[in-house]
This record gives sequence, C-alpha cells and structure tokens, in this order.
Amino acid sequence: ELDVELRKVFKVFNGETAVRGVDLKIRQGEFFSILGPSGCGKTTTLRLVAGFEQPSAGEVIVRNQLVNHIPPYRRPVNTVFQSYALFNHMNVWDNIAFGLRIKKLTNAQIEDRVRDALQLVKMEGFASRYPSQMSGGQQQRVALARALVNRPSVLLLDEPLGALDLKLRKEMQVELSNLHQELGLTFVMVTHDQEEALSLSQRIAVMRDGKIEQIGTPKEIYNAPRTPFVADFIGDTNLFRGRIFPFERSTIQVTTDKGLTIFAQYGDPKNGKASDAFSSLRERVVVSVRPEKIQVSLEEPDNYPNCFEGRMKHVMFMGTHVQCVVELVSGDRLLVSQPNRPEVLVDSQTPLYAFWDVH
Ligand code: ADP
Ligand code: MG
Repeated sequence: ELDVELRKVFKVFNGETAVRGVDLKIRQGEFFSILGPSGCGKTTTLRLVAGFEQPSAGEVIVRNQLVNHIPPYRRPVNTVFQSYALFNHMNVWDNIAFGLRIKKLTNAQIEDRVRDALQLVKMEGFASRYPSQMSGGQQQRVALARALVNRPSVLLLDEPLGALDLKLRKEMQVELSNLHQELGLTFVMVTHDQEEALSLSQRIAVMRDGKIEQIGTPKEIYNAPRTPFVADFIGDTNLFRGRIFPFERSTIQVTTDKGLTIFAQYGDPKNGKASDAFSSLRERVVVSVRPEKIQVSLEEPDNYPNCFEGRMKHVMFMGTHVQCVVELVSGDRLLVSQPNRPEVLVDSQTPLYAFWDVH
C-alpha cells in the first residue's frame, strides 16, 4: 500500500533542472525523510507532492491517483513549512480553523476539530494568543496543528524544526515521533540535518543535485553507504581512495593512493559479492571507515587486518567521547572517535597504533 509515488519526475525552472528523474515509493504510515545539502532539490520535491509545483516530466501519484494536474487543496496532503507561515493578524484558534472555514464545515465540527488539534500538540491554553506572543517552538506546534486539523493522509514537513535552537529541536523531534506513532499518518520530512533524519525516519532518501543517491533505512544508509557522497554526508567518515587488488567473496583488498593496504567489506554483505561488482583487478574504489570503528592503542594489537602506526595530531574532548585526528606514517589522516578514556590522550610525539576490523 503506497501512499506517495514519484515516477521519473523532473522539474525545470527557467532552464535550470532542480529535480532530475526522481523515483520514490513512500509507504502508508511511514516516516520518510528526504535528506541532502541545501539546494539539492528537497523543497521542490516536496512541493511537487503538495501540488505547489507541477512536474516538467514524470508522474506524481498520491493514494493511487495521478495528481499531476490536481490543485493542492484537492490532494489528501498538508504541508508544514519551515517558516510556519502562520497568519500574524489571527490568533491561534483562527489560524487553525481557517482551512476548515474555507471547507465550509459547520461551526460545531470546526470547534471539535480545532480543540482536538490543539490537544494533539499540547497547546490547549493558547487558543487566543497571537503568533507574536509565542516562542518559536509554540508557533511550530500551531503550524503542526493547522496542518493536522485537515486530517490529511500524508503530512509533508519542510525542515519543520529548522528555526528552533538545538535543545528545543531535540524536544520537538521526540514530539514529532510521538505524534507520528499516535496518528499513524504518513510523514514525509525534508531536512538537511543528518542526525535528525537518522533518529526519526523509518527510511531516508539521500538527495544530491536533484537526484536520489540512495534510499534505505537509517542503518543501511549509515552502515552500507553506496556512494562516497552518502558516506561523507551521513555522519563523519574516513574515505580511502585506491585500487582494488585481489578479492574474495565480500572482502576486498585495496591499495590506497598513499600506499596503504587495507581490507574492507564490499557493500552490504547480504547482497552481492565483490566478484559480481568488479570486472577487473585494479579498478578504482573508495572505502569508507567510520571514526568509531577505529581504535587507538600504544601497543600493537594482535591480529587486526588493518593496523597502522601513527601519531596523535589533534584531540577534541566532546564529553562522552573524544574525537581525534591520527596521522599515519603514510601521511593519511584518520578521524577517530573514542569513548572518553584517558589512554587516548597522549602527546603528538608518542608512537601509537590505529586499527580496525574489516568493515
Ligand atoms: P533545497 O530545498 O534542497 O535547498 P530547493 O528545492 O529549494 O532545494 O532548490 C533546488 C534548486 O532549484 C535550487 O538551485 C533553487 O535555486 C532552484 N529553485 C527552487 N525553486 C525555484 C523557483 N521557484 N524558481 C527558480 N528556481 C528555483
Ligand atoms: Mg529547502
């Protein structure tokens, strides 16, 4: 049961292509995120689903209906904008009731629905406030209530928490997640914040230059990024560029451009063998190693396929963990994330070993 489907959708603005051939299938009840850097086409994609933009080519399907030529107000979707877009001259109650009045519901129906919506976002006491009399977080809740009051099948959220400070943002993330569970609606959220996407979504589409680079669960995207861009964009990572040497099943040996020999796992171990993916030896590859997979010690560890001598170049204390940069003898610099232990806090002269398993 799909809720939203995009088929080979393109959007061109005055000769500039903002969305280029996007294919997406979003399931009913899913919390789905579109994640990517600023300008990659996220908002345009969402506006195509909402109906504020018409595709230059391709099909937009909502609830099994081709909606290319259906206006926004007749689609079973509602949008929460980053800017909230509340009416400043109306109080909270009227802001929320506005859409229902246009739909010509009776006063009793409107009253019930607005009350429910206010309760959902825990703003019962704020009905007579004006937007200027509320904090960013409160305005955000009102914007959510205004979208939910229409009882859409799909809620579209464009950087919904983007204007909030970090602490409030974390709180609202939890509330969004609760709201999603409570309502069982399909949520499609656009964000450039990878942590937000990873923590809230059931699946994520990573977008770049108008195209989708990878779609998967947060775990798949983080643990098995399919392109260097995805690996780098989702969290920190160490990228090694080099040529593949012999390979066997899913483990490959790579000689990096700086002359290191490293062992790595090809893609998702369940799907696909390296021997299917690489036609020849010496093909160029990029290996991604997450900072938290790398360990550091003063003594050489036994039996690690990847183990290199280096020096501690930089240590950043982060509270629960320590972020360090280790420079290897080869000149490669490794970003390493360690639990907060004193062992790693050594000076830049002491030789040490950085090592990791095959990942
Ligand atoms: P994002 O939300 O990922 O930051 P957008 O979808 O807003 O990206 O924009 C993608 C690209 O399309 C950008 O280059 C932007 O300048 C362009 N664009 C978006 N909307 C319009 C428009 N109405 N007219 C012309 N260009 C636009
Ligand atoms: Mg945007």
